[in-house]
Amino acid sequence: MNCRDLHILLSFDMESDIGSWTDEYVGCAKGTGRILEVLDRYDVLSTFFFTGDALLNCPESACEVLAAARHEIGCHTLHHESVGNPSFRCPGVQPVLPEEVPNRIAKATEMVEAKTGTRPISFRAPRGWASTEALRTLQELGYVADSSYMAACHRQHTLPYYPSAKDWTQPGDLTVLEVPLFGGDMAYGERDADNWLEEDPWITLRLKGAEAVLEMIWREHDRQQKQGNPALACFYLHPWEYVEMPQTITTDECRIEFHDLICKNTGDASVRTLDALIAALKAEGAQFHTIRDFTEMWKGRVPDAHASGHPPARGVPSRPKSRGEGALADGSTRTGLK
Ligand SMILES: [Zn+2]
Repeated sequence: MNCRDLHILLSFDMESDIGSWTDEYVGCAKGTGRILEVLDRYDVLSTFFFTGDALLNCPESACEVLAAARHEIGCHTLHHESVGNPSFRCPGVQPVLPEEVPNRIAKATEMVEAKTGTRPISFRAPRGWASTEALRTLQELGYVADSSYMAACHRQHTLPYYPSAKDWTQPGDLTVLEVPLFGGDMAYGERDADNWLEEDPWITLRLKGAEAVLEMIWREHDRQQKQGNPALACFYLHPWEYVEMPQTITTDECRIEFHDLICKNTGDASVRTLDALIAALKAEGAQFHTIRDFTEMWKGRVPDAHASGHPPARGVPSRPKSRGEGALADGSTRTGLK
């Protein structure tokens, strides 16, 4: 198989350890270098989404990224606070009020710019919980891309779209490109039990290894190719996955025991898995991009997307009826993205 139309976006959410459930930055401090070593080995660029807190607590991780190659630095809020609508159960993580969202994202943007010397133009909401308010704010702040939409959860879009200013999950006239996170087969399944998170590709990668995720990617490639579309697989990974993490932590008020899906196979196993994933994708001709570069390329391929007042609906699949049926709503043709 030669996957010339397969586009891989590896991105890393730079935050405190274990899904931000701790206030430690061992992952940023020790995992960043391990990630960069693998990326360098294959000459692959990626996007690192920093929280303001990660930049304050572990500025050396940003220095490592900036020194390594032409990687992109994006923004992941100030404190890993939620700026959107919950997509899964997480008691204790309350979204900030909608009226607080613009100020929060503006402050985080300023901090990333002040600490790294570059104004971020790509954003990811913590836990993928974005909102219409967040997207409108990103547009006002000059962002070009948001990559928060979890295809495994929302199950409507698997290719990028320009969101509506009234509902960020629907296509519309905003100019910030929404770049969906790869959902694998879950993006085409019925929304049933609350187990989609376990099946999400980033967790599958760590629990089941590169081969399981590669199978998902090949299937996605075939689905999109049948529709004449390029295929996209955008991953959200974390520096703390590349350092062995504890199964339990104790805070002043409680003891937290993590599910395997969060902490199993962190450390050396994850480094080897990332290496194997990239090696296999490279061997098949997949192209790797930062989210910034991908967004620029996508815009170039669909230049009339906004001139017409319509998003690049060609290439945006409708919600499939059942697993494996990735039909397009408009019987469209390929976007021409190479
Ligand atoms: Zn995060």
